[in-house]
Amino acid sequence: MTAHFDAIVIGTGQAGPALAARLSAAGMKVAVVERNRFGGTCVNTGCIPTKTLVASAYAAQLARRSAEYGVAIGGSVQVDMKRVKARKDEIAGRSTQGVENWVRGLKNGAVYHGHARFEGPRAVRVDGELLEAELHISPGGFVRSHVHPTQEETFTAVEGTFVLDVAGETRALGPGETVVIPARTPHGFRDAKEAAKLQVEVRPALALDDYFRAYLGLSRDGRIRLPASGLPTGLLQIALVMDRYAPEIGAPKIPLGVQRPLWRMLAKLGRKAGRSASFPEYGAP
Ligand SMILES: Cc1cc2nc3c(=O)[nH]c(=O)nc-3n(C[C@H](O)[C@H](O)[C@H](O)COP(=O)(O)OP(=O)(O)OC[C@H]3O[C@@H](n4cnc5c(N)ncnc54)[C@H](O)[C@@H]3O)c2cc1C
Repeated sequence: MTAHFDAIVIGTGQAGPALAARLSAAGMKVAVVERNRFGGTCVNTGCIPTKTLVASAYAAQLARRSAEYGVAIGGSVQVDMKRVKARKDEIAGRSTQGVENWVRGLKNGAVYHGHARFEGPRAVRVDGELLEAELHISPGGFVRSHVHPTQEETFTAVEGTFVLDVAGETRALGPGETVVIPARTPHGFRDAKEAAKLQVEVRPALALDDYFRAYLGLSRDGRIRLPASGLPTGLLQIALVMDRYAPEIGAPKIPLGVQRPLWRMLAKLGRKAGRSASFPEYGAP
């Protein structure tokens, strides 16, 4: 789909949103493109997170020196790093949400969540990218049914027979066979009968590779558990991931407009409980 704009602002860091707001207020039709978290470095990993951590350190130090000010605390001062981090995530989360609401609310604006690339001096393509992955399935393996809200996924069997459910229908793929799963189509597989190797292509890529790293790391470490059916465990942690990767992943059956506010609300509780939506330990910043 091609759209025409008077101006295209790439990135929602320090300058982008303010510039887009000025252009929009001047009556120009503006596109804003962001490939990652709204607000860029300052809001998500730079100025704001560091200042909240420094503020906690300052509070701890002042509390330790309270006697000098004639204030008796009665006991030693402890730092709860989980709470410190939750506070940092909460404040940075509010800021990124504020920036997103700001650009989405621009009168003559359109927001694209994806990677912008120049195709010519006056033409930009958003998310022409492709994510390619090799998927190795072990017997008994499963992936719970899910949707990709904006991405099309193509599975091509390379070795073995792969059986998956697509929108309630069972599809079996032998070597060389392909199935294309349009955006918003529920799909998954359970109790694989044999080992299989697949080539997977996802268009546009968005941050699905980060989602995979986060999801696999959390599952491997037992921090979440998503069985093929039934109730998952680690719901608050799952909510943080579902909220963070809302353009990439969604639950089946529940309309996206209904589930997203629910994930967001649970994610907020998760942050309050000291959980995070970023996993540098698994390579998902
Ligand atoms: C730990 C730390 C602490 C800091 N503390 C301070 C401070 O106290 N005070 C201060 O003044 N500065 C501070 N800074 C520096 C400040 O964060 C940066 O100078 C500022 O964020 C730069 O803004 P920017 O808009 O140029 O880039 P960024 O904030 O990095 O924003 C760029 C945005 O563009 C997006 N983007 C890039 N390429 C594309 C593309 N092709 N398609 C779509 N989107 C794209 C990115 O995802 C990102 O959101 C700090 C930095 C760090 C790392």
